[in-house]
Amino acid sequence: MGEAERGESAPRARISFWCSNGHETQPSFAHDAQVPETWDCPRCGFPAGQDRDSPPDPPRTEPYKTHLAYVRERRSDEDGEAILAEALAKLRGEI
Ligand SMILES: [Zn+2]
Repeated sequence: MGEAERGESAPRARISFWCSNGHETQPSFAHDAQVPETWDCPRCGFPAGQDRDSPPDPPRTEPYKTHLAYVRERRSDEDGEAILAEALAKLRGEI
């Protein structure tokens, strides 16, 4: 019974954090809670800070698959397609 009262009575403040990918997250803190300097971005896992213009550096070891990793994979796929297209063109005598 008492659980509903707990948490609702304490005023909470939403604090904005930004990660180096520009994601904004707004966790809420109880007014008497200590707001941490950084917060893990829920979208990419990078640390996020309260200063939008200078977010914390991303960690060197990334447990999450980054956007860059996806781009690299995609690029190698496209390279593969280009090589395949070239091979087909050679077969057809177009080169
Ligand atoms: Zn992020």
